[in-house]
Amino acid sequence: MSCDCSEFQNITDNLQLLNKSILDIVTKLDEQASLLNRAVFKSATHCGCIEIHATKQLFSNNKTLEENQFDLDNHVEGVLCPKCREKIEEEMGELIFYLASMCSALDLDLDNIMSTKLNHLKTLGIYNLL
Ligand SMILES: [Zn+2]
Repeated sequence: MSCDCSEFQNITDNLQLLNKSILDIVTKLDEQASLLNRAVFKSATHCGCIEIHATKQLFSNNKTLEENQFDLDNHVEGVLCPKCREKIEEEMGELIFYLASMCSALDLDLDNIMSTKLNHLKTLGIYNLL
């Protein structure tokens, strides 16, 4: 099922009762990012369906950006189990909710922001990250 960002933002705006203030939205967005990060880490530390093996990323000056990107590692081994996947998706959904709330409070359009960013990514590709 595809999602319409404008509809999402409108519904979010209509359901925003307790956190109407931009101050509450900013703090909820920050708190929600932490909850999402915690859910990711608990998949490794409590469930164990994934493991995180972080090592130094090695960039070679003799390779192109694309070649280096191919060699980089996300440091995640394994696959999320259904329970962890559901929890992380739930936390991501909450994060998007508060992001949409911030857009409404500041009279910004989430759909327009995503479209602009998508065009930016398409135009610059990997160089967007530099
Ligand atoms: Zn799991």
